[in-house]
Amino acid sequence: MQTVALPRDCDEAAFREAARHCVAQGLSPEELVFVTDEIGSLFDAVAPAKAPPVPVPRAFAKIVPDVLCHSADDRFALLYRLLWRINAGERDLLERVADPDVERAARYAKAVARDTYRMHAFLRFTERLIDGKPIFVAWFEPLHHVLRRAVPFFVDRFRNMDWLIATPMGTAAWNGGVLTFGPPATRPAEASDAVLDELWTTYYRATFNPARLRVKAMLAQMPKRHWPTMPETALVPELVQHAGDRVEEMEERGPDKPPRFAEVLAERRPATPDTPTEPVDVLRREAEGCTLCPLHGPATQTVFGKGPADAAIVFVGEQPGDQEDLEGRPFVGPAGQVFDRALAQAGLDRSRVYVTNAVKHFKFLPRGKRRIHQKPGTSEIRSCRFWLGRELAAIRPRLVVALGATAMQGLTGRPVAVTKERGRIIEADGLSVLVTVHPSYLLRLPDADLAEAEFGRFVRDLALAKPWYAETSS
Ligand code: SF4
Repeated sequence: MQTVALPRDCDEAAFREAARHCVAQGLSPEELVFVTDEIGSLFDAVAPAKAPPVPVPRAFAKIVPDVLCHSADDRFALLYRLLWRINAGERDLLERVADPDVERAARYAKAVARDTYRMHAFLRFTERLIDGKPIFVAWFEPLHHVLRRAVPFFVDRFRNMDWLIATPMGTAAWNGGVLTFGPPATRPAEASDAVLDELWTTYYRATFNPARLRVKAMLAQMPKRHWPTMPETALVPELVQHAGDRVEEMEERGPDKPPRFAEVLAERRPATPDTPTEPVDVLRREAEGCTLCPLHGPATQTVFGKGPADAAIVFVGEQPGDQEDLEGRPFVGPAGQVFDRALAQAGLDRSRVYVTNAVKHFKFLPRGKRRIHQKPGTSEIRSCRFWLGRELAAIRPRLVVALGATAMQGLTGRPVAVTKERGRIIEADGLSVLVTVHPSYLLRLPDADLAEAEFGRFVRDLALAKPWYAETSS
């Protein structure tokens, strides 16, 4: 029996290195004991040379970072067992969902995704003056080692301020544009700040809908252990207690005027499941009520992304058009048809990819009965990055395809010359991004020959995404 020591918050690279050494030496799972911290390293003593990579299916490569973040003691042994079996010829192992190892790994991955989502949703910063400098601090108690996984979301959104996130599993500090990780912290005595508490409380009171109160579902989504750092939760008992009175009051007042297109939508809109099962479904539900920018006012509804919650490739367009606004689905109008045709010719299956937009509401100018498309502005793109970032964090695709300049701006937060980067895969904010044009550009070309040539080029651009379906290495 041999011991493999790994750090408690072991990342993918460290595990991969350790696992490669073990596989290279033919050590079966039964011969190994994985431990955390400094109990002794097998590899320093036995195998200093670099071990060759072990080819694994994409599904395994995708699940590894999540399972590693789980706090269960058997996570390393579980992953190694899966790797060992795959390497022994069970290439389709991850597809056998009833297999006890596969089922356990999927359960761990799901718990980690849920914990990350909760960190994004429930972490609250409060402002402190440290050495005369304002620093935003937050205390959060995750169940798993999700700090490193969750932090890019906060870097992206709070890039211009200095902050510190403290957890019992580690700390992350963003100071002057530099991110550093530190040791675990102990729970602060006081975790709230009057001004920001007031802001959250006001927001919560304004958005609380007594008619949709489901206490059990609310507790499932917002576990009580996070309440101490969420000032708005102090309102919950009072709001729950008076929910009945407020519903009666609303009933007496009668229904509000139905929104435009309500009848059409009632016929077309598929029922939203009561209990979303994937983090991206939770986001979709939340985004339905978004009022972060003025675009929600005239539009019919939020048009969130569609596709598998674990898609390898995510396509990002600009914003919903007239038809998408009515149907509530992205890329179903004329540009969507061009997109579908090009995808098929590029050998990509739309049902296997996730399609979304940088901006989730339709921006238009009313002209008589027509609604004329308007390009979203920088502030609208910036506001909607809140959703795009969370959407990508929930799906964690291997490749993002940016369709046009607005998509690039939504992804990177800055204008990017699409013509210069077109047909290339670039790294942007931790994402691999394939840059191409928006399909509506092809509809605007006046010359048929040019349109045909550009369509062919668009197909070739999309075909560059094809290898991202393929297997990868661990
Ligand atoms: S466009 Fe985006 S940010 Fe603006 S209201 Fe709609 S969902 Fe919210």
